[in-house]
Amino acid sequence: MPTAQTSPPLQKSEVWRLCTRRVLRKCCPQCGVGKLFARRFRLAERCGHCGLVYRRAPGAQTGSMYMCAAVTEIFAALLILLVFVFTDWTPAFAMAVGIPIVLVFSYAFLPYSMALWVGADYLTDVGNREWWAQVRVDPRSPRSR
Ligand SMILES: [Zn+2]
Repeated sequence: MPTAQTSPPLQKSEVWRLCTRRVLRKCCPQCGVGKLFARRFRLAERCGHCGLVYRRAPGAQTGSMYMCAAVTEIFAALLILLVFVFTDWTPAFAMAVGIPIVLVFSYAFLPYSMALWVGADYLTDVGNREWWAQVRVDPRSPRSR
């Protein structure tokens, strides 16, 4: 008969790294097994494995849109700087090349922004010692790491 294994409690930095790694893999920050998204840009309501609710209230993902916009603006600024320093492109040609690159970046980054926002929300609850926010590590499941 298998016995319950208890692992030592995780340090705060380990919890942050573990949850960040999990959400960047688009998995549940609590268990690391359940999928975060029902579709590409659609968060699941809750984790299919541990039941953690991802979408707690209307507008809870607004911060992820701000995060995506801010990161995209930083990316665009760096791209403009690179074009300005390393090329002699005309402004019209630089915009013709740069705008599609920035749009593709924003499109690709949005799901990660949403996942990072769920992770930040969850880590806030862990930091506030909410009774239900317990990072779970299943030693039998390599996906939980
Ligand atoms: Zn879960």
